[in-house]
Amino acid sequence: MEEKIRIGFYALTSCYGCQLQFAMMDEILHLLLNAEIVCWYMLDRDSAEDEPVDIAFIEGSVSTEEEVELVKKIRENAKIVVAVGACAIQGGVQSWANDKSLEELWKTVYGDAKVKFKPKMAEPVEKYIKVDYKLYGCPPEKKDFLYALGTFLIGSWPEDIDYPVCLECRLRGNPCVLLERGEPCLGPITRAGCNARCPAYSIACVGCRGAIGYDVAWFDSLARVFKEKGLTKEEILRRMKIFNAHNPKLEEIVNKVFEGVKE
Ligand code: SF4
Ligand code: SF4
Ligand code: SF4
Repeated sequence: MEEKIRIGFYALTSCYGCQLQFAMMDEILHLLLNAEIVCWYMLDRDSAEDEPVDIAFIEGSVSTEEEVELVKKIRENAKIVVAVGACAIQGGVQSWANDKSLEELWKTVYGDAKVKFKPKMAEPVEKYIKVDYKLYGCPPEKKDFLYALGTFLIGSWPEDIDYPVCLECRLRGNPCVLLERGEPCLGPITRAGCNARCPAYSIACVGCRGAIGYDVAWFDSLARVFKEKGLTKEEILRRMKIFNAHNPKLEEIVNKVFEGVKE
């Protein structure tokens, strides 16, 4: 009998929303015909975190010293590592306040509480290990999970999306909330794949699928548009940081826009 592909799904610091999204899919049952789930605590309490796997899906940001060790161990044990969701890929919304110190944040949220783990500032998985593929979104789309998994199962490699939400938004014929209502929509710099879900409901994109690459996304142009629409520097930074706090040049870019210095 042909050997089944071995899969692991691991959670770091997260809301568990990504794995919940996938665990609720009926297709998971079909998956079991071709794959063995070696580790997925949400589905099986007796999961084995130390076992070798073909594909490791990692959800959550690296937010403790223990998680640093865990991701290294997962990498050693896996042929393919997939970062799942905004927490794992961009550090998630828990990276938002990275202009504050860990001590300050800890005091604000937990006061004098003592814990058994060693906390640290939330960071993307890629900061510590090589990531082979990414499932973008908060949470990612079910279709992306199925597509990636199905492609891996047949021994091929899934393609990436490298165009912005605006493209899908225009194709859907949505009214533009940025140009028509002056709302701070991050669609121009955000990776497509959600079929412009939020603008379709007249809600500005907050960028949950992350930037289409920090080197190619036009943060500066968009910051200028936001400035023209009346947003302050702090408002623009706050908005852009929600899912892009680890863009190393973000503050510099926005500062320059407000200094009137040409990029
Ligand atoms: S990416 Fe979003 S849905 Fe997934 S674990 Fe993080 S906060 Fe939850
Ligand atoms: S609403 Fe947002 S995503 Fe849609 S076209 Fe305008 S800026 Fe782009
Ligand atoms: S429109 Fe933006 S915020 Fe909404 S789901 Fe798509 S990427 Fe995420």
